[in-house]
Amino acid sequence: MAKELETLRSEIEVIDHEILELLNKRATVVQEIGKLKEMQGVKRFDPVRERKLLNIIAEHNKGPFETSTLQYIFKQIFKASLELQEDDNRKALLVSRKKKPENTIVDVKGVAIGTGEQHFVMGPCAVESYDQVKQVAQAMKAQGLKLMRGGAFKPRTSPYDFQGLGMEGLRILRQVADEENLAIISEILNPNDLEEALNYVDVVQIGARNMQNFELLKEAGKINKPILLKRGLAATIEEFMYAAEYILAQGNDQIILCERGIRTYERATRNTLDISAVPILKKETHLPVMVDVTHSTGRRDLLIPAAKAALAIGADGVMAEVHPDPAVALSDSAQQMNIPQFNEFLEEVRKHAVVHA
Ligand code: PEP
Ligand code: MN
Repeated sequence: MAKELETLRSEIEVIDHEILELLNKRATVVQEIGKLKEMQGVKRFDPVRERKLLNIIAEHNKGPFETSTLQYIFKQIFKASLELQEDDNRKALLVSRKKKPENTIVDVKGVAIGTGEQHFVMGPCAVESYDQVKQVAQAMKAQGLKLMRGGAFKPRTSPYDFQGLGMEGLRILRQVADEENLAIISEILNPNDLEEALNYVDVVQIGARNMQNFELLKEAGKINKPILLKRGLAATIEEFMYAAEYILAQGNDQIILCERGIRTYERATRNTLDISAVPILKKETHLPVMVDVTHSTGRRDLLIPAAKAALAIGADGVMAEVHPDPAVALSDSAQQMNIPQFNEFLEEVRKHAVVHA
């Protein structure tokens, strides 16, 4: 009995060996076909041809395998063959480090992001008035910060909540930024507003709710100002990378990725900060990566530890919201810092930044 099993097993090994050789022999022919197709400029995938090959299997199959099983196995062989025809470089996305090993440096009015230096993007959730923005800007300037955020077009869950001041908000941001020598990052919701907004903003933010607004992404890819792209509320890292690819594919490589927490079953925080997304994105892409600690945690008491974690894990920057009087803020009142808290935040967090900036 044991002898018989051994004999059968040896037989299997011989057959596997033959299959292996045949598969590789097939692969060599496939590669030759690939070269011919490339020369002739013909598309590699040919559904008519593939259907014919599957029909041949059905015609010749005498069992014991079901035809559908064999067709499934052959489909896998066809797929692997197609992949063999594409070289690794062609398969890689434009955002991928495989395509471009060195870091992309995003230049925001002379501030270089992506060099290893760590930055802070601070400012109110929403622009409410000149005075409100001015107070935050002065506090930022006193701290030597240059990158100010502020929402003029606000993507609110409820249509009855404050929607932002629109273009007027952008004008306020620009005026204060010019007075205090800061750069402005602000969200644009509608592709039709992009052109006019470019008169005021230095970086266009595409928010979490719009990460897969493909028309907006394509338009953002055509402009010559940097884009801060936030991760979608429930987007995988792969989907996030594809969203950035939409922008890059149109020619704009000045993209900063921003992890801002994702939706999970956890209710202790507003979202769940996916901290490991930072090193994954740094590894997989050549783009700078920031972490928004305000929207990811939704908790003022977690801003400092979350920011420390972001810097420790290699983020190129941290975003957080600051308001002169958060208690009366028109949006995100629970998690914005006031100015003394902002100063304390920076003092604490800067101890952990690789380079203070
Ligand atoms: C914001 O940064 O103002 C904002 C609305 O964030 P998110 O798109 O990440 O929710
Ligand atoms: Mn906010």
